[in-house]
Amino acid sequence: MDIEVCNQCQKLFKVIGHEFPRSGTKEIEPINCPHCGHLQDTLATSGWWEAYPLTEEEVKEYEKNKRP
Ligand SMILES: [Zn+2]
Repeated sequence: MDIEVCNQCQKLFKVIGHEFPRSGTKEIEPINCPHCGHLQDTLATSGWWEAYPLTEEEVKEYEKNKRP
């Protein structure tokens, strides 16, 4: 799981990759911001990407880890 900051609305979201088992081919799939729909990135995967907003707790955790 990756945490991203939207390039457009600056909100945090997490990206979860799903993979089809035994699928050898990779395709470029889009990652869209779940807050504003902005096309954040495209990455190769043998499955697909899902993006979710962070919960308040996850945001706190993220902010905590960001600080030295
Ligand atoms: Zn956004």
